[in-house]
Amino acid sequence: MLRFWKRNQEKASDAAAASVTEARPDMEKPGLLNRFKQAVSATRKSIFSHIGDLALGKRRIDADVLEHLEEALIAADIGPRTTMEILDKARQQVDRKALDDFDALKNFIKSELRSILSKASNQLDSSPHSGAPYVILVVGVNGTGKTTTIGKLAYRFKQQGADVLLCGADTFRAAATDQLAVWAERAGVPLIQHAAGGDPAAVVFDALKAAKARGADIVIVDTAGRLHTKLDLMQEVQKVRRVAAREVAGAPHEVLLVMDAVTGQNGLEQARQFLQAAGVTGLVLTKLDGTAKGGIVVAIARELNLPIQYVGIGEALDDLVEFSPDAYVDSLFED
Ligand code: GDP
Repeated sequence: MLRFWKRNQEKASDAAAASVTEARPDMEKPGLLNRFKQAVSATRKSIFSHIGDLALGKRRIDADVLEHLEEALIAADIGPRTTMEILDKARQQVDRKALDDFDALKNFIKSELRSILSKASNQLDSSPHSGAPYVILVVGVNGTGKTTTIGKLAYRFKQQGADVLLCGADTFRAAATDQLAVWAERAGVPLIQHAAGGDPAAVVFDALKAAKARGADIVIVDTAGRLHTKLDLMQEVQKVRRVAAREVAGAPHEVLLVMDAVTGQNGLEQARQFLQAAGVTGLVLTKLDGTAKGGIVVAIARELNLPIQYVGIGEALDDLVEFSPDAYVDSLFED
């Protein structure tokens, strides 16, 4: 996961104090598994509606059962390739009499999914760095939940004791800067922005200068989600990258692509366009709570082969959780 380390001892003790206060609200909240369960409840219902009374464990596993299972996985948007592979392996095991009841079958599928997800969650970290702010660029098309995610991230890092600054480099739409200002206020962090229509690279320059001057730990940069052409969009992201690199060594340290779980497989093509141009290092998948096709997490992890760092599970400030393959897979199959 994207972890944050304090840069010096004084800040480390602040962080410890913050984590104590942070612990209280967390204790009142459901645990990670329950939060995932709530988020994917529509997907879980869909899976169980396809497999129906098989789940009661009354039937032996046969071709008919496997067919229902195939429909369930396809409907959940796990992706045709993964579904076929899992089913082929399951059939072989059934033939060898290695899988003979529903629980065994369920455990088999869960372990297959976990193995796909673990390959795509080779964790990145923002290891200790010296003196300069840690710069996170957030990219993705409009409507995916980019602004909301930036607000949630800022809040999260602040709760962990970091000094966070937001940078509104999406100057293409006036509404984007206004919206970001609302989230900055909600999260209680400063925002550097210019008037709409200005040069995004200039905002990044100012934000990084301000961050260095105040000793900020983390700068989260909102980039344009739409421009006149795709080429313009990609060139703008590249320009922002260049300016960031000039101002802070190694920046951007992280480029997070925000993807909308509701757009399902269609979002994959969009995402691929960003991967290379923006040098994406990790993914945030939003609106997992808004779809019955929550299996898209598996398809995305597999097709893009990038770690899913965070998942959006609602519209509130704290509705962003670190992605956990175990909690996710369990939440799909356990009532
Ligand atoms: P942007 O155009 O990409 O910046 O998208 P916004 O951040 O404005 O979000 C678009 C819509 O998606 C808003 O109505 C958000 O409340 C909603 N949204 C964002 N993330 C989530 C999420 O994780 N779950 C749900 N249910 N809605 C979300």
